[in-house]
Formats: sequence, structure tokens, C-alpha cells
Amino acid sequence: MSVPWSRRRFLRAAACLGAAAALPAPLRPKAARPDAAPPGERVYFTPLADYRELPADCYADTLIRPGEIILHWDGNRNGRELWKAAVTYETLAYLRQSAHFAVDDRRGLQMLPLYRGLAQESYGAKGYNWIALNVELAGRDFDQPEFAPAESQVRLTVRLVSQLMDFYDIPFAKVVGHYERDDRGLKRDPGLAFMARFREQLAAYRATLSPLKRQLLPDG
Ligand SMILES: [Zn+2]
Repeated sequence: MSVPWSRRRFLRAAACLGAAAALPAPLRPKAARPDAAPPGERVYFTPLADYRELPADCYADTLIRPGEIILHWDGNRNGRELWKAAVTYETLAYLRQSAHFAVDDRRGLQMLPLYRGLAQESYGAKGYNWIALNVELAGRDFDQPEFAPAESQVRLTVRLVSQLMDFYDIPFAKVVGHYERDDRGLKRDPGLAFMARFREQLAAYRATLSPLKRQLLPDG
């Protein structure tokens, strides 16, 4: 979640009025825009029961070619018992915001349409949505010991991110935290120490995948 919803609604309203050219332009190279070819069949990285699509006004109607994965915390300030992907979903829907995935300690939700080589453009990381898959972890302030995420939540996220890397051919160096992709310097999520540890776990997990297993993942 990167932009206060009131501002984003203003921007969208402005775009509807034909003022889009006056908005600050993200670094969106034309070559990165997919052509108008049909996107093909949808792909799912969660069980179908955990596919829960956000309302259409929560995301852009454009498709992107994913080249990065940006991790977030969802900033939930309620108790840990409410650090749930379903709450992440409801919050995004309420704020008219979006990310591709929400992960809690039990499961991940896929919240936007994905295709081979393409993804629906989310509003998860201002300035980078043209290239990024956004993954929200339920919770906040992960670097504070009392808010450290559950091991199962981290494990589920590692596995999801690894699958996305293989499916979209995204290199390890392009798995980043939101604070590394915030040109305004306002974002801290999902924490420096968290990302350092996450990278270690992601590298260790990927080292355990044999060449055969990796062939069995989507798109090998
Ligand atoms: Zn974020």
C-alpha cells in the first residue's frame, strides 16, 4: 500500500478528466509495455479456493511483464490475531489499493489475474507498478522482536517468491523490499533486518531445489 487512497482517487479522477498527461510520469519504458496480444490462460500460485480477486477499481486495467518482486508488510496495527491475509484483502478493497498476493501464517491469497509472462498491474508500489509483482505480508514492524513474523509466514512467502522467480524468470537481485523501491524515502516495509534474513532463507531454499524439481515448477 503506497498512496493514501484519497490522493489516488484524486489522481484517478484527474485521469478521467483527461489530465493524465500532467501527472508525474513513472519510469515506464515503452518497450516494457505488453502489446495488445491476448494474455492467454490465467495461472494460479495458490489453491483455487485461495484466489480472491480484488474489485476492478482497486487496480489498473493494464497488463505488465513482471521483472521484479516487491515485498511489503500490510501495516496492520491490530493484534496479531488479525494479521490475516483475509484482513489484508479487505483493507486493500476498502482503500481501493492492490497487490498480487497476501500472505499470513497459514496461507497465501492471490488477488489479481496472472498469465504466462504477464500480470495485471497493481497499485502496490508507486513508480514501480509497471514492472513489479507486489506481495503483502500481514503484519507490521517486523524488525521489532515483538512483531517478528511467524516462521510459517516467512516460509510460505519464500516458497511463493521462489515460484514466481522461476515462472517469470526474475533474478534473485530483483527481489526487493518496498523501502528499496520508494523514491520518496517514506517506506520502511518490510524492514531492513527482515529483508536480510528473507534473502538468506530464499537463497537457502532455492539451493535445495534440484534441477529436476525446478523443471517441475511452472515454466521450469
Ligand atoms: Zn509497502
